[in-house]
This record gives sequence, structure tokens and C-alpha cells, in this order.
Amino acid sequence: MSEQDHGLKRRADLLALLSDKRQEAEARYRQALSQQQSGAAAGDSEGVHGWKASREGGADVAILTALDQTVRQIDAALGRLQSGRYGLCAACAEPIPLARLQAVPFATLCVPCQSRSESRGRGR
Ligand SMILES: [Zn+2]
Repeated sequence: MSEQDHGLKRRADLLALLSDKRQEAEARYRQALSQQQSGAAAGDSEGVHGWKASREGGADVAILTALDQTVRQIDAALGRLQSGRYGLCAACAEPIPLARLQAVPFATLCVPCQSRSESRGRGR
């Protein structure tokens, strides 16, 4: 019974974590979008700085793409949470500690499995 309560608490914590991350990414997306739009308008009015504006515009597109992918990843994680598969290690099936998910929301391996796979990767 208490173990089930713990599972529900963890799921609520993970839902709050993902919702926070999603709101943060959406806010940053909107901010980058409005900066890109104002930057493009300034570039039009000042021909001398046109090259600079377009370079910054290019960087903003990369930021927008990255933030868009982050929101998609969070949506996918929310889907896995609904089916009870989010936050479990893909290698040993142990729950990944909440602190690790706060730092790395899309972690699919727990720390011991991650370090094992990284040391294998470096060995090659
Ligand atoms: Zn593991």
C-alpha cells in the first residue's frame, strides 16, 4: 500500500517536472521567436547592419529548432509517463532517481548504467 503511494507520488513529481520543463521551453521558444521577428524588422530599416541581422537571424532559427525539438521530446516523455515507462532505466529497469531526471529530463539510463555505457564507448 505504501509502495503504491510512493509510486503515485513519484508519478506526480515526474508530471510536475515535465510540465515545468515544457512551460520553460515554450516560454523560451516564444521569446526567441519575438527576438527573431524584431531583429528582422531592425535589419530591414538599417541596411548597413543587414548582414549582422541575418547572421543573428540564422542563429535564432537554430535556437527555435532546438527548442521545438525539446518540446517534442517532453511531449514524448509525457506519453511514456502516461503508459508508466518514463523514468525507468532502459538497461536495468530500475527507477531513475528524480534528481537525475531534474538535471537530465530525457535520461533513459540510470547513472551506473550510463557510466558503464560511456566507458564502453570511450574504450573503442
Ligand atoms: Zn540502470
